[in-house]
Amino acid sequence: MTHDAAVLKAREIASRVLAPSAGQNDKAGRFSIEAIASLGESGLLGLMLPADVGGQGLGPRSFAAVMATLAEVDASVAMVYLMHILGTAAISAARPGTAQAIAPILREIGAGRHLSTLAFSEVGSRSHFWAPVSRAQRKDDGVRITAKKSWVTSAGQAQSYVVSALAPEATGPTESTLYLLPARTRGLSVAGPWDGLGLRANASAPMAMDDCEVPSDLQLTDDGAGFPAMLNVVLPLFNLGTATVALGLCRAAVAGTVAHLKSAKFEHLGQSLGESLPTLRAQLAAMQIDTDGLAARIDDLVDHLEKPRETTMLRVLESKAAAGDVAISVTSAAMRICGGAAFSKHLGIERLFRDAHAGAVMAPTGDVLREFIGKSLLGISLF
Ligand SMILES: Cc1cc2nc3c(=O)[nH]c(=O)nc-3n(C[C@H](O)[C@H](O)[C@H](O)COP(=O)(O)OP(=O)(O)OC[C@H]3O[C@@H](n4cnc5c(N)ncnc54)[C@H](O)[C@@H]3O)c2cc1C
Repeated sequence: MTHDAAVLKAREIASRVLAPSAGQNDKAGRFSIEAIASLGESGLLGLMLPADVGGQGLGPRSFAAVMATLAEVDASVAMVYLMHILGTAAISAARPGTAQAIAPILREIGAGRHLSTLAFSEVGSRSHFWAPVSRAQRKDDGVRITAKKSWVTSAGQAQSYVVSALAPEATGPTESTLYLLPARTRGLSVAGPWDGLGLRANASAPMAMDDCEVPSDLQLTDDGAGFPAMLNVVLPLFNLGTATVALGLCRAAVAGTVAHLKSAKFEHLGQSLGESLPTLRAQLAAMQIDTDGLAARIDDLVDHLEKPRETTMLRVLESKAAAGDVAISVTSAAMRICGGAAFSKHLGIERLFRDAHAGAVMAPTGDVLREFIGKSLLGISLF
């Protein structure tokens, strides 16, 4: 599949499958099984996997374009897709020695029949996902894990979960290991409902692991090597992906605002809102400037990921922090410009506004990213 073909497929799925049901799924908090089936049939679930396991072998540029296309129509589905791509990347980077157990799973993903996700955040360490408080216990040929995971996107819907826990012999808070738990693992369960302010249709419920047995061939990283995998494999794509969700939301907010300013009329003045009020035109222009600024930032991050250099990690950190703020600001402007019509949910703009508030609180949160950036500029160690 080429880059252009991937984006075309995403567009087709967005208009045929996502657009008709995004509003209803948001209202009902319903996970879109149809969306995942379509992404699977189209080959997009294996977007970044190599061809030898049935993947498309595409890179961050295509990932970013597909993500923004999905997010513009349904940010919940885009977030499910993002967490799947991250889970897949972690599985794909598994340590040597796991190949026999991992290869069939990668082939299932390549064939579009397997959805994965990440279960990192824990009740005990909250947004500090790099410091799980659960600890794997060594047992026979593998480990057992008991953990309380606070939010897991696609909880109860995914076929597998990439799970973090402190390594059995860990002596420090970041000495974690990543494991792969198939959905059928005994002791693994959804531990509560998902009724969020936004991203309501992505099943981001808590999950419990109660003495879950994990054989050694499903241990993805070496003991204690979960943290570098989080930083090097997961974080760059996660920050890129959440920035593209923000971009999709901003583009949808601009389009929705333009449509409203053209269609809503002051009948007594014989003008549309947009014709009548320069202040609304100026606010719309500011939304467009911020949206294009975010698109340029994402292009720059993609370029840094394609050609890694000294500034790449800084760009990774900056992009998610900036995108979270831009998404909130642009969708807030849309709410204000579209007035009571937006507030009373006639336009679908309020869904964008609610969805836009997730990015800044998903870990690493905007605050944490700014803290990391400030510390690294001053040469202070981050952890
Ligand atoms: C829709 C959604 C989907 C999610 N999906 C997943 C998933 O699939 N997998 C997963 O593992 N997790 C997931 N999460 C969890 C997410 O990544 C965060 O861990 C979670 O949102 C943190 O919330 P909290 O209340 O625990 O934050 P807290 O840690 O309690 O933070 C509270 C506030 O303190 C600030 N803060 C915390 N630490 C610092 C610091 N060091 N410096 C400055 N400020 C700080 C934060 O920015 C925040 O404003 C999801 C969350 C949401 C909302």
